[in-house]
Amino acid sequence: MTVLKGKLLKNESLAKYTSWRVGGPAEQMYLPEGKEDLIAFILALPPQENLFWLGLGSNLLVRDGGVKGTVINTRGRLKAMQLIDTNKVYVEAGVPCAHVARFCTQLNLSGAEFLAGIPGTMGGALKMNAGAFGNETWNIVESVEMIDNKGQVNQRGNEQFDVSYRSVKGADNEWFLSAELLLRKGESKISEQKVKLLLEQRALTQPTNKPTCGSVFKNPPGDYAARLIETCGLKGYTRGGACVSKKHANFIENTGQATAAEIEELIEYIHQQVQQQHGISLQTEVCKVGMPL
Ligand SMILES: Cc1cc2nc3c(=O)[nH]c(=O)nc-3n(C[C@H](O)[C@H](O)[C@H](O)COP(=O)(O)OP(=O)(O)OC[C@H]3O[C@@H](n4cnc5c(N)ncnc54)[C@H](O)[C@@H]3O)c2cc1C
Repeated sequence: MTVLKGKLLKNESLAKYTSWRVGGPAEQMYLPEGKEDLIAFILALPPQENLFWLGLGSNLLVRDGGVKGTVINTRGRLKAMQLIDTNKVYVEAGVPCAHVARFCTQLNLSGAEFLAGIPGTMGGALKMNAGAFGNETWNIVESVEMIDNKGQVNQRGNEQFDVSYRSVKGADNEWFLSAELLLRKGESKISEQKVKLLLEQRALTQPTNKPTCGSVFKNPPGDYAARLIETCGLKGYTRGGACVSKKHANFIENTGQATAAEIEELIEYIHQQVQQQHGISLQTEVCKVGMPL
């Protein structure tokens, strides 16, 4: 019998793995030591097992009843990153976006600076097509390596995906193991300056030191979700421990003791108010997972 590498935790609370600090337990959570153990682990799972992949939990509302099945946690795992050609970087799914930005900057490669302020992993950024300040993840992706629920690994070029604003379609029952990023020759001093400005801008406009999940809603075409929410007079509006940020109306802060249910109720309330007052049905950017209590 092969010995399982990595850690398998039972009934593990997910609240400590999400940036909102809420959520019930995972039935089981697997933290692989590396890519090979992860493939072996998935191969050994029953084919009907419910799998959920977790990065840094920075865009995730885990409901209070938790998640049935297996949560694959890439945090601090799948962390290899290397230059593989003049302008090309290989990044595994668990590498934090900020590390990718720093690594590229140090190599005089430009194009990944916007990742500096996104508090997620490369895997999460690929899934969400995370973006900021006019750039987005799939602008720099050449190809990805994916795994399906049978443990089959596939290489896919970017042309196999239908990518748009915070949306990636094309491989619904597969998950990202790694990506090859194609960057431009740049100059580290200029990239560093760009990163500094982007981070300063973020700190000025977003509650970056509070438990949030970033933008709750996607911006509708031609407008900003934050503007619509603010004009409904919702800044500072609370539901239990969940509060619409006074600094940025599209952020919901956990003021300390919020439950996932309170956050979800607040999201629904905001949606309803914007619909009533502006006639616009906002779409959530945040991913919701699990069962209510
Ligand atoms: C303060 C703050 C600021 C933010 N600013 C931005 C911003 O400027 N731009 C932006 O786009 N987002 C922003 N976000 C949201 C978030 O950081 C991004 O969406 C990020 O890409 C999520 O990555 P993650 O690793 O935390 O993913 P998680 O939250 O862990 O997961 C998000 C989704 O990705 C899936 N996923 C995770 N890993 C994988 C994988 N390897 N393969 C397949 N699916 C996977 C999960 O199953 C889930 O569906 C912000 C969040 C916060 C808290």
